[in-house]
Amino acid sequence: MLDRAINQGITGLEELEMGAARIQVDDKRIINCRADLNQLVPFKYQWAWENYLHACANHWMPNEINMAADVALWKDPNGLTEDERTIIKRNLGFFSTADSLVANNLVLAVYRHITNPECRQYLLRQAFEEALHTHAYQHVIESLSMDEAEVFNMYREIPAVARKAAWSIKYTKSLGDPTFSTGTVENDQRLLRDLIAFYVIFEGIFFYVGFTQILSMGRRNKMSGTAEQFQYILRDESMHLNFGIDVINQIKIENPHLWTEALQQEAIDMVREGVDLEYTYAVDTMPRGILGLNATMFKEYLQYIANRRLAQIGLPAQYANVSNPFPWMSEMMDLKKEKNFFETRVTEYQTGGALQWDDAT
Ligand code: FE
Repeated sequence: MLDRAINQGITGLEELEMGAARIQVDDKRIINCRADLNQLVPFKYQWAWENYLHACANHWMPNEINMAADVALWKDPNGLTEDERTIIKRNLGFFSTADSLVANNLVLAVYRHITNPECRQYLLRQAFEEALHTHAYQHVIESLSMDEAEVFNMYREIPAVARKAAWSIKYTKSLGDPTFSTGTVENDQRLLRDLIAFYVIFEGIFFYVGFTQILSMGRRNKMSGTAEQFQYILRDESMHLNFGIDVINQIKIENPHLWTEALQQEAIDMVREGVDLEYTYAVDTMPRGILGLNATMFKEYLQYIANRRLAQIGLPAQYANVSNPFPWMSEMMDLKKEKNFFETRVTEYQTGGALQWDDAT
């Protein structure tokens, strides 16, 4: 059993070993664990369990959000400018496939290599949330009677969208390879690098131009249903990011030999590359200033976010003298406030039934 564990890693699907010693907290490890993965308790990584509970407390469904005002505005020939329509279409184009990419990466690549039940419990919840996000984009696209093929193919056809998708896919490929397993320094570093790519850059940087654009539209009372969908998605995504950062830092704590200067430099380079790609996306989706936003503001915002992301994984800031041009975005991510906001509306969940809505709202 132990030899097999060293060579192939434990997955949780091994044959039962009757009468084996009971699992102890100290047996648990975030990667390359050799103890039974089917026992959630005793908890070692309380933060992962807390994240799971918070995520469940923030449950929502895309079809609960009223899209009627968006449909009317979208159909009105004078309702939106061409630039505003471009922003909506491009973002649906990017996100409708991006959350599937993240889901596939989680389920087919990351899940197998994170050898801890508390973290896997959150990953299962995260995978469901990615499904909800794809559902949300599909719901918007269908509500607005958009050309589905055009939107879902943007990640293959529109260069600024395609570049971000292609950048991320290369970081899923190695982990998804069925012959890949952790357990060597080189492969463990590859896992760490790919987690940084997905959690810190893809979910932590590549989503933020689109979120800001759509939420800014909602602040001006345009496409308010779509903006509300994005607001819930952003709230989920800020938790995905926080969980990912905790996982990355925990791997570093347990395996300090992996976090070499070379890997740190690679992570810095990846973040810088992410900022450049996302800035190109900002320019492409917004060639002219619109909604009180312009591409220069996004450059500063992305640099500000990048500095924060680097600090979160213990790396030095790369951009001097930048501040947040969109302070209202942090309010959108305030979980507590959003949760209260949410709870004033949905009063009861029913098994297999519709939601009960509070008339007061
Ligand atoms: Fe996500």
